[in-house]
Formats: sequence, C-alpha cells, structure tokens
Amino acid sequence: MKWLYRCPACGAEYEIEPGRYLCDHCSQENRPGIPLQGVLECVWKDEPGKTDGCAACGPVDAAGASEGSACQGILLPVEAEFFPKIPVGDTPLWAPERLRESLGMPNLWLKDDTCNPSGSYKDRASWLVAAFAKKHGISEIALASTGNAASSMSCIGAAAGLRITVFLPKAAPVAKRIQVLQYGAELREVDGTYDLAFDQSIEYSRATGVLSRNTAYNPLTIEGKKTASFEIARKLGAQAATGVCLAPDHIFVPTGDGVILAGVIKGFEDLLRCGCVNRMPKFWVCQAEGSSAIVRAMQTGVFEARPSSTIADSISVDVPRNGSFVLAKLGKHESEGVMASDSEILAAQLMLSSQSGLFAEPSSACAFACFLKARKAIRPEETVVVMLTGSGLKDIAGAERALGLAK
Ligand SMILES: *Cc1c(COP(=O)(O)O)cnc(C)c1O
Repeated sequence: MKWLYRCPACGAEYEIEPGRYLCDHCSQENRPGIPLQGVLECVWKDEPGKTDGCAACGPVDAAGASEGSACQGILLPVEAEFFPKIPVGDTPLWAPERLRESLGMPNLWLKDDTCNPSGSYKDRASWLVAAFAKKHGISEIALASTGNAASSMSCIGAAAGLRITVFLPKAAPVAKRIQVLQYGAELREVDGTYDLAFDQSIEYSRATGVLSRNTAYNPLTIEGKKTASFEIARKLGAQAATGVCLAPDHIFVPTGDGVILAGVIKGFEDLLRCGCVNRMPKFWVCQAEGSSAIVRAMQTGVFEARPSSTIADSISVDVPRNGSFVLAKLGKHESEGVMASDSEILAAQLMLSSQSGLFAEPSSACAFACFLKARKAIRPEETVVVMLTGSGLKDIAGAERALGLAK
C-alpha cells in the first residue's frame, strides 16, 4: 500500500518522511490565534482488496474473539514491525447494564480507553509516532501537552527506548506530571497556558531538528487515533453476529483540539472506503461550555478565540489546533455539537462511576454529560457509543470537587 500526506485544503501531496509536518502552501496562512492551517492527512493511493471479512481488521469470527491488534500495520502508514511491543489499543467496549436499564437504552456502549498503558486515548497516537521514529532511526521526540499527551509519549517512549522532551503548563494535574517523570522523560515546565507550551515546543523542534509529536501539527497524531473506530466496528459486528463490521448509529467524542474526533471520523471513512461498513455514524462533538470553539464554529463557520476555562483540563484549549481540518471533515458527515457545563460534567462523572464502575477523568465525563443532554433526540433502540478517553485517577482534584470534598 502506497501512503502519502495530502493537504485536504489544496490537494498538494507529500512523502511521509521526517521533517514534513504542514502543507508548504496552506501553512503560509498561519498566524497566532487561529487553528493550524495546512494540517495534512494520511491517505493511501491504491485500493485495498475487498476481503470476505474486513480489510481493516481481518475477518471477524462469530464468537467475536479478536486476535490482538490485527488492525495495526494493515491500514496504518507505518509497518507493524516498527511498533514498540506495548499493548496499546484493543480496549474493551463495555455493555453497562445498570446505565442501560436506568436510561432505557439497551444498545448503549462505553469505549474504555482509560485502560491504555498510560491511561488515555493519546497512546494510540504516541504509538504510531514512536513506530515512525523507529522506522527512520530517530531517537528523540518533543511535544507540548495539557498533560495526557506528555504522559502518553513518555510512556511509549520508555517502552521504545526513545528520549522524550515535554513542554507542560505548570497547572497540569499532578498525576500527569508525575507520570512523565516516572517514565523518565525530560520535563520543561511552562509558565503559562497550553497554547504557549505548544509554541515553545515547536520552536524547540525547529531549533534542534527533534521530531515533534505536537497534536495536529504532526499528521500521524490524527492517523494514530483512528484505530478505536476499527475496534468499535469490529466488536459491534461480532456481537450482532453479522460476521462483518458494523458502525454504531451515534458516537460521542470529547473534543479539545479536535484530533481524537478527526481520527475517529477518519477511521470510519477508511472502513467505508474498504467496504467494511455501509454507513457512517452520527458524530457528536462534545465540548465543555468554557472551551467550545469547535462547537461554536460548527454553528457560525468561523473560529473565535476565547480564553478557555473548564475543569476538564484535557479539553481546555483556547485555539483548537485541528479546528479547521476537523470542521471540513464534520461537514461531510452527519454531526452535531453539544456543550456541558462544569457542574454537568462533574455530575456525569459521578453517575458514570457509581452506575457503571468506570471512573473517567472530567474530559471523558464531558462526553457522557453531552450524551445525557442529547439523548432525547436519540431513539431508545439505536446504538450509541460514548468514547471514554482518560482515567479518573489522572485528576483527583477534579474528582474531589464532584464529591463536594474539595476545599
Ligand atoms: C486529549 C484528550 C481529549 C481531547 O482530544 P483532542 O484531540 O484534543 O480533541 C479528550 N480526552 C482526553 C482524556 C484527552 O487526553
């Protein structure tokens, strides 16, 4: 399979090679305060052969047994042999009995990405970036993060033997900072916001030539995040005993920069292109009221920079880096934006923990809160997946507030 980067805005194509991040033409429009312009997409040239099962993830057997992460390397732009041997992805899809009953929604599912090695969805992207580094003999990676991308890249880097330098705002939750140090990465604390950390880390990568894993800036971060869609489609197909992949009717995705969302959409686009699913789900864009640039732009068509403020630190961004890219993608499919307030997020976190046994951090709880707000528009028998992206243990201060214990 021949893979390339393509600019969705102007169609320019580039080799997937070290040093290539943005489109040469469209990136000239970049300026402070707007989403990144010239974000590239991974595309493959030749048509994959249609198989009896699923070209993305191999045949689904009737019992639904999945043989490890069969997807990796088949529909990804780096060959399987370069992926560090650390169990990323293939995360469980929960059938939350008590929630199904209390909400009257028998086809509600929770995609539990809290059980990735570093405790978040970010590991999917870090894994692909690490594989790319291994393939090209690169030994150091730098990135900015609100916390989870840093702990994730540090974790995968430890498994792969890569040097990791992270730029992290001082206000990041302590657990995420401790993870970075435990995994042996170099921590550069930034006296300011994530947006400042982002700029500083890009400057560092430019000056040193170190590979950047900055979200959206490195196109592999989007591509790596598509694999959850393969897993969801495979598991839903297996449990419906159709023997093929199945797309859910609805999927709720917590959204900050919009990279997870773009990855999830790309995953289903790939499945559709391969003929593994016959339709797309409806994508629900879930944001906190205090950090809602993408949802607002879905309504107005323009990005308006506003300082963000929400308890859900992982989805707190002033300028969504992948905003322009994902807005174009959303326009091609059925989608809708929802927002939740901090108190709705904390109430949803508690409800999720106490009625399902899944303790997720506030950003993930935001997706669940948005689902609770949107469910009036969903028929009870429809299939709904809520994407739970980070462990509740990563932000104990937030969880304390949900319990009314915080001072
Ligand atoms: C990063 C992150 C998100 C949001 O992902 P974006 O790509 O920034 O939209 C959601 N949940 C968790 C736990 C995260 O770490």
